[in-house]
Amino acid sequence: MTHGRLLLIEDEPALARGLSDTLRTQGFEVTIATDGAQGLDAATRGTADLILLDVMLPKVNGFEICRAVRAHGLDVPILMLTAKRQEADVVLGLNLGADDYIIKPFSCRRTRRSHKCVPAPSRARSHAGDVRRLPGGSRGTTGDA
Ligand code: CA
Repeated sequence: MTHGRLLLIEDEPALARGLSDTLRTQGFEVTIATDGAQGLDAATRGTADLILLDVMLPKVNGFEICRAVRAHGLDVPILMLTAKRQEADVVLGLNLGADDYIIKPFSCRRTRRSHKCVPAPSRARSHAGDVRRLPGGSRGTTGDA
């Protein structure tokens, strides 16, 4: 039994290999695409349960792949892999339909945890602030009008 079919789109061979080894030991069935064209083709086939998507890719970049996947009407969860300096770009990725992102370099532990957090085919993301303040925190106004 596997956790699902995971498509890893990553052009750095060492990173792709390390990540896929880890994910396989976690029970994922991993397919690797090593450039954007391959990735686009595999991603829009609709057979993956989860896509790990690098941003900077030869031929077709991660944003275009993300957009294409959503344009195909696929709601597969997409996690973008991005370098720290590209963090601002991630907002674009989220706007194009990515579900979340992971900053590279990351430890395998961090990646595993992220996967555990991936909600099955849900794209619902709560952007609402969790911070709620109780009204009237001040002691001076105890008299309810
Ligand atoms: Ca890359």
